[in-house]
Amino acid sequence: STRARCQHTFARMYAKSVVCPHTSSSSSLVNTRRRLNSSERARRTPRTRTHVVAMSAAPSPKTVGLIGAGGIMGKPMALNLLKAGHTVNVWNRTQSAADEVVAAGATFMSSPAEVCAASDVTFVMVTTPEVALSVAEQAAPGLSTGKGYVDVSTVDAGTSNKIAELVRARGAEFLEAPVSGSKKPAEDGALIFLCAGDEGLYTKCKEPLETMGKAHFFLGNVGQGAKMKLVVNMVMGSMMGAFAEGLALSEKSDLDPETLLQVISLGAIATPMYAMKGPGMIKGNFPPAFPLKHQQKDMRLALALADELAQEMPVAAAANELYKRARRDGCDDEDFSAVMKAVKKM
Ligand code: NAP
Repeated sequence: STRARCQHTFARMYAKSVVCPHTSSSSSLVNTRRRLNSSERARRTPRTRTHVVAMSAAPSPKTVGLIGAGGIMGKPMALNLLKAGHTVNVWNRTQSAADEVVAAGATFMSSPAEVCAASDVTFVMVTTPEVALSVAEQAAPGLSTGKGYVDVSTVDAGTSNKIAELVRARGAEFLEAPVSGSKKPAEDGALIFLCAGDEGLYTKCKEPLETMGKAHFFLGNVGQGAKMKLVVNMVMGSMMGAFAEGLALSEKSDLDPETLLQVISLGAIATPMYAMKGPGMIKGNFPPAFPLKHQQKDMRLALALADELAQEMPVAAAANELYKRARRDGCDDEDFSAVMKAVKKM
C-alpha cells in the first residue's frame, strides 16, 4: 500500500526533517517519532533500517543523463547532480539554454538518443505530455538492456504508459518520477519524487534522487506517480485561485492585504505557498517559478482524469477557468500566481 511504501522514504525524510503526508499531517518526522509509544517505535524502526540497508546496497548509476536541462527545473537538477560528483550528459532543444550546465562540467550531446547511449540512467524534464512522448521516441534508439529512463516531467498516466512501452521495448527499465516542488526546491535539492514503474530502477536511482530531492515515494505501477502528481497540483491550483480571490476581496473591502497575509500565516490555513507568493501577488510581481501555462496544463490533466473516473470536481473546474482566462490574457510565462490578474479583471 502507499502507506507501507512511505516507510521506504523514512530514513531520508528523517534526515531532512520533512513530513510524510500519509503518516503525519502537520509535524516533522522527528516530532512524530517522539510522540510514538515504545511498542509503536519497536514496530516501525526495524522496517526503516531494513530498507536503508537494502537501498544502500543497490548500485548507483555512474553516468547520469539529463534531457531538458535548460528549463526552470532541469538546470538546477543538473547542477546538483554535478555538484554531487556525477558525470552528467545533457541535451536541450535550445543548446544555449544549457550553457551554464555545460560550464559547470556537463557534456552536451547532439540528441536525446546520444544522451541515453552515453548514460547509465537518463532523467527527462520537459514541458507537456506531447513533448515528453516525442522526446522518448527520439531517445529510444539510445536505450538498451541495463539502462534506465526516468521521466520526471508532469504528464498524464496514459502518456507515461506509452513512454514506458517505448523504453521497455528496448530492454531498458522505466520509472516515472514527477516532482512536487518548484524552482527553489530544485535549486536546494529538496524536491519530492513521486515514483512508479520498475522498482529495480527506483532502487538504483537512490543516490541521484536523494541528491535532487528531500523525499521519494514508490507508488506502484506506471501511472500511479503521474496521478499522484496531478492530484497534488490540482489541490495547489485550486488553493492559489481561492487565495487570489481572498487578496482581491480584501483590497476591495479596504482591508490591508499585508494584514490578511499575517492573519493567514498564524492560523490553520497557513502554508509556505501563501507566505512565499503573497507579497509578490500584492505588488503585482509574478517572476516565473512555476509557469502559469504548466499549472493550467496540470488542472486540465487532473480534470481529464476526474472525467474518466466520473469524479465531480466543481472547485477545480472553476479554478481552471481562471487559469484559462489568465492564459488568454498573455500570462503563460508568468508565475502561476499571476492568476491574480484574471481574478482582478472579473
Ligand atoms: P520550462 O522552464 O519551460 O522548461 C521546459 C523544458 O522543456 C526546456 O528544457 C525546454 O527546452 C524543453 N522543451 C520544451 N518544448 C520542447 C520540445 N518541443 N522538444 C524538446 N524539448 C522541449 O519548464 P519547467 O518549469 O522546468 O517544467 C518542466 C516540467 O516540470 C513540466 O512538465 C512542469 O509541469 C513540471 N514541473 C515544473 C515545476 C516548476 O515549478 N517549474 C514544478 C514541478 C513540475 P528549450 O530550452 O529549448 O525551450
